[in-house]
Amino acid sequence: MTTAEKALSLAQAETLANQIRLNYWHRDRFPVDPVTIGTELGIRIIDADLPEDVAGAFLKKVGGDPIIMLHEFDPLNRKRFTCAHELGHYVYRLERGHFDEQEIDHVDKRSELSSTGKCPEEISASRFAAALLMPVEKIHALLKDSDDIYALANFFKVSVSAMRYRLDSLGLLNND
Ligand SMILES: [Zn+2]
Repeated sequence: MTTAEKALSLAQAETLANQIRLNYWHRDRFPVDPVTIGTELGIRIIDADLPEDVAGAFLKKVGGDPIIMLHEFDPLNRKRFTCAHELGHYVYRLERGHFDEQEIDHVDKRSELSSTGKCPEEISASRFAAALLMPVEKIHALLKDSDDIYALANFFKVSVSAMRYRLDSLGLLNND
């Protein structure tokens, strides 16, 4: 396996997500809106009539603008995470270089999005998504007041399972 095929480390995903959030969003405005960020990055983001087992897709023709498709009937918080995950694919591909010359036709099934997975690109995309929507500094700030996972999920407008997974990956999950 070449270096380019390795997943982004947690720290790399965190750094890239912070850069993008600070450049295309607001330092302390929550919830972070991945659709606004994607649009600012020049990505067309559309609600689409996707198959039931598909959450989203990331598409691009050679030399063309990237497109993110989101399942039109998904609940808002799920769509937000899917959109952030698809942005993670964009960032991962950009990092690998030659982005303009790439043809991308990537479909994310729900089963793959919700699992931890082994594909480096999928791991990277989900790490990026979590870091983008739930910045570690903000989590630490909120935890000073309360460690209620439902309140945290509601603050960041993510699912409780995404919030729990994020806290766990940061070693902050309170198991009692
Ligand atoms: Zn994916």
